[in-house]
Amino acid sequence: MPKKRKSRGRSKGGKGRSELVQCSNCGMLVPRDKVKRVTTWVSLVDPVLAKELRSKGAYISRQKVIKNYCVSCAVHFGVAKVRSREERKPFR
Ligand SMILES: [Zn+2]
Repeated sequence: MPKKRKSRGRSKGGKGRSELVQCSNCGMLVPRDKVKRVTTWVSLVDPVLAKELRSKGAYISRQKVIKNYCVSCAVHFGVAKVRSREERKPFR
């Protein structure tokens, strides 16, 4: 069978089954090695106020938010892009 990608779109290699995780947007169950993981730092303080406070030497804590996106949601949010045959990593 012809393959579109060497990794089949996953990073599990020769391992067997991998656990399922839920997509943060649509809730679809996706294998952990296939999911697009995005880490964003979110501040609880309003950005304008935060900038002002930071200039006065205050420390503003940020929270780390990790999101797992399924491939279709990752494409929708621009995390991953649809690439043409030439753009994809060459193999074989
Ligand atoms: Zn999704």
